[in-house]
Amino acid sequence: MPFIDLMVQQERIRHEVDAAVSRVLDHGQYIMGPEVLELEKKLGELAGGVEVISCSSGTDAIWLPLLAYGIGAGDAVFLPSFTFTATAEAVCLTGATPVFVDIDPQTFNIDPASLCIALADVRAETDLRPRAVMPVDLFGLPAPYTTIEPIARENGLAIISDAAQSLGGRSGDVPVGKLADVTGTSFFPAKPLGCYGDGGAIFSGSSDLAETLRSIRVHGRGASGKYDNVRVGTNARLDTIQASVLLEKLKIFDEEIALRQHVAGRYEAGLWDVVTTPSVPQGSVSAWAQYTIVCEHRDDLAAALDNVGVPTQIYYPCPLHQQLPYLNAPKPKAGLPVTEDLTSRVLSLPFYPYLPSHQQDQVIESIRQFYIRRETKTTLGAAT
Ligand SMILES: *Cc1c(COP(=O)(O)O)cnc(C)c1O
Repeated sequence: MPFIDLMVQQERIRHEVDAAVSRVLDHGQYIMGPEVLELEKKLGELAGGVEVISCSSGTDAIWLPLLAYGIGAGDAVFLPSFTFTATAEAVCLTGATPVFVDIDPQTFNIDPASLCIALADVRAETDLRPRAVMPVDLFGLPAPYTTIEPIARENGLAIISDAAQSLGGRSGDVPVGKLADVTGTSFFPAKPLGCYGDGGAIFSGSSDLAETLRSIRVHGRGASGKYDNVRVGTNARLDTIQASVLLEKLKIFDEEIALRQHVAGRYEAGLWDVVTTPSVPQGSVSAWAQYTIVCEHRDDLAAALDNVGVPTQIYYPCPLHQQLPYLNAPKPKAGLPVTEDLTSRVLSLPFYPYLPSHQQDQVIESIRQFYIRRETKTTLGAAT
């Protein structure tokens, strides 16, 4: 069984995707063609009426907002260490300093209390200017934005959301894309909304910020034409062909998000009493980019599952603050104990909207068997 099977979805929409790509080949507007603008409009509606700037990857989708805010050398940006490298990388590429913050043990998302401690430490012990916080919606679950917001406002921080994994998620009535000052998502093929290559998008309610982002996306272009440059930008456009693929995938996206809830619900029902299953706060909806359990004897369990043909992944085996490029980045004096504990106990299970129920039952049964066997062994060991 595969960990993620993208072919099932492709077979379902292959005919429509072929036709959509053919239309782009016919009109020939490979760069910023009409599909790109149509996609931005549709994504804006999906996110409850915000401006959308498509771009070339999820990494660009969090890097460009930092540039748009003018964040750079001497600035501090607060972020979790329990995330994919790109979050910290985007900060470092601007010359700013990433400051690592611990996470909540239940949700794996940034812990607002740890953010407050890190802010106080940075003010007391460094000359860095606190400029932004980058919550990550890990595994698809929106970060606690309503708690972060007052802290950010009080401290003059912009809220830049790394929503690479959470498009389709919600917090109350508010969809991802509208929860932060600016939100970046990724269309990497394995993300909840993936294209057939690299791609990303930025969401913001501010039209000023959107205008700056559109300029940065095309080499810092000004208002009066192609060779009028008003700032240093880059080339971060989304290909028209990828936009045409995404338009077809968007048509089934709501349904796929609902299927993800169904698959997650079956895991919850089958596993809640043997491992710690993901906890979704009341009112939140996860996009379920991953289904990640917290468990005892993690490495033995992963090996036992591998033996019976059940693939698993560890996201993430080593937190960023322990990796070479980020060893000197500031973090709270008390360290990041929750992050370090979780990296040794998390395990992500096979997950995608079309995961067949018999395969899912096999995953659940194999995990239950592993713990039953261990318990029997321990009981026998105690008796002798
Ligand atoms: C995937 C991912 C990114 C980067 O997205 P790309 O499209 O691969 O550049 C950034 N942050 C997180 C949390 C991710 O999971």
